[in-house]
Amino acid sequence: MEKRRFGWTGVQVPVIGQGTWKMEDDPPAEALAALRTGLDAGMTHVDTAELYGGGRVESLVGRAISGRRDEVFLVSKAMPNNASRSGTVRACEASLKRLGTDHLDCYLLHWPGSHPLEETIAAFEELVHAGKIRSWGLSNFDVDDLEEALEIAGPRRIACNQVLYHLRARDIEDRVLPWCVEHDVAVVGYSPFGSGDFPQPQSRGGKVLGEIARAHGATPHRVALAFLIRDPHLFTIPKSARVERVRENAAAAGLRLTPEEVARIEEAFPLRRGRPLPTI
Ligand code: NDP
Repeated sequence: MEKRRFGWTGVQVPVIGQGTWKMEDDPPAEALAALRTGLDAGMTHVDTAELYGGGRVESLVGRAISGRRDEVFLVSKAMPNNASRSGTVRACEASLKRLGTDHLDCYLLHWPGSHPLEETIAAFEELVHAGKIRSWGLSNFDVDDLEEALEIAGPRRIACNQVLYHLRARDIEDRVLPWCVEHDVAVVGYSPFGSGDFPQPQSRGGKVLGEIARAHGATPHRVALAFLIRDPHLFTIPKSARVERVRENAAAAGLRLTPEEVARIEEAFPLRRGRPLPTI
């Protein structure tokens, strides 16, 4: 699995990781097998959140990574309504307990909320000093919010911004991605398959994906992932609770699209400029 520098932190992180949203609805044995298969395939960036299943998904992830913590780049997120100075620290400690670990590799604010960002960032820095998190980042932050965070934290503090990024939501390419590149902030794209709403094979875009997939002996889902990591600053975190699909998703890291294929996909799924950052 190809790894990339995770923004200014310099940590090498796999380009394709594993999401865990709604995994509480999957049969636990299958979800565990899928997560462990992903680790075996090098998808060691595991993304979770206190929100997911009200903490049940973090407990599941804790079981999946048990005995393998050192292999994993573990990310969790604080709910905005918990993100006061003391609330953030408490939320992190509860996540650590459920995950069965003493530290996170990156801890995110799930989306901008009403607690002053100064408080959340102060708590993040406190957690870094205490060794409970290695770095911190943001999620669903548009450029204005990022500017505010940068002004509070200073340069080389925001490790990443986790944002919606799939074929029919390429909005980040307009302003958010260039901002993050300029400030050495890693960009982690979530819901790469549109959260299950993937282009139908008979749609115009679906046909383009199908043709390119056939040329590579791959699947449209693999082609989509390869496209979404074509920029060297991008990471992606597809979710699957099925072993075969996890293997298929991991294999996308080795699929190289030609410039002509990239151009065809860009044309079939055009970038819409000037919109506020969409979320799921
Ligand atoms: P995805 O876009 O990753 O799609 C997941 C869906 O696609 C599931 O139904 C899954 O089913 C199916 N799927 C996965 N792989 C394949 C495949 N190869 N072929 C066919 N179907 C497939 O959705 P998510 O919204 O879950 O996004 C990924 C992750 O991003 C989340 O799990 C979460 O960790 C993160 N996220 C972060 C957000 C934020 O606000 N920061 C918001 C939303 C997501 P099955 O499991 O049955 O295989």
